[in-house]
Amino acid sequence: MYGNISIEKASQRKTMPDLAQNLGFGRHFTDHMFIMDYTEGRGWHDPRIVPYGPISHDPAAMIFHYGQAVFEGMKAFRTVSGEIALFRPEQNAKRLQRSSERLSIPTIDEAFVVEAIRTLVSLDKIWVPAKKGSSLYIRPFVIATEAMLGVRPSAQYSFIVIMSPVDAYYEEGLHPVNILVESYYARAVLGGTGNAKVAGNYAGSLKAQTLAKEHDCAQVLWLDAIEKKYLEEVGSMNVFFKIGGEVVTPSLSGSILDGITRSSIIHLLRNWGIPVTERKVSIDEIVQAHADGTLEEAYGTGTAAVVSPIGSLLWNGNRMEINGGQTGELVERLYLEITGIQEGTRPDQFGWLT
Ligand code: PMP
Repeated sequence: MYGNISIEKASQRKTMPDLAQNLGFGRHFTDHMFIMDYTEGRGWHDPRIVPYGPISHDPAAMIFHYGQAVFEGMKAFRTVSGEIALFRPEQNAKRLQRSSERLSIPTIDEAFVVEAIRTLVSLDKIWVPAKKGSSLYIRPFVIATEAMLGVRPSAQYSFIVIMSPVDAYYEEGLHPVNILVESYYARAVLGGTGNAKVAGNYAGSLKAQTLAKEHDCAQVLWLDAIEKKYLEEVGSMNVFFKIGGEVVTPSLSGSILDGITRSSIIHLLRNWGIPVTERKVSIDEIVQAHADGTLEEAYGTGTAAVVSPIGSLLWNGNRMEINGGQTGELVERLYLEITGIQEGTRPDQFGWLT
């Protein structure tokens, strides 16, 4: 499609960290990376795998000034039978297209993105850790590389894929965190870029995250930007609540990222016969459910942690403890099912593994 992927192997492999020891998250990078360039008039060209290393760009490259950049986050797993599996990679490729489209970046064929990732993972497969819960985190991204000062879409881009062996997010099992309900800062607005995986969204979220830490909270629960009433996301995860036996999650309003873990969880819950509704969820409703004793569980969902239980919500100075600050039954069940499918100890009944 864009030409064959050429491979330049690293003359020397890197000194690998001990994959059975503490890897942390996003600290080590594999031997190779994938790169493909775009030039206006020519399209995407020169797909190649090269040794991992610094890239050089003109200081006027538009990425540095106007932030025209999108990215993805996904994982490869070493299953118990020793095979290497990607979890729903075509979904990440589709979302990369939607994000690109939103930032006026030329899209890349979905099947080609998956093929590029497969080729890279296959070349660096010794980097896929085998320890329970660990994985190879994959970060595809597209940046605007034209050297030009002026606000308009760049005429040149690079699509790059790098990979990092990572531990389970919560190494000692699921660990409920405190969350601050953010009443001033907003992550996204309707018509903005919140439903795309755009680099600038994350820069804009840092201030609130820093303030949350001062309140002994790991992250913020974002409310809608206009009414400051409806729940959107928790940190960079989608959010779910179990209220009176029913699971609810904010509907994809236009300012919420369409998480692949979110969609997998909705699918699983429906399959298990557990009622789940996508709708507007207000903070008042959560406060009321907490007061009534019907707020059973709350958790975030995303590729990095899979699920992350919420132990308490801090809202208007009041701390609402959820499920006694303990990991709930349903969130635990979801965690075991999804990680089980990923590590190959539970049947892949929906064909999520590649
Ligand atoms: N919301 C935001 C803002 C995110 O960055 C992510 C992580 N990609 C998610 C939700 C969860 O998405 P996923 O389940 O696809 O990782």
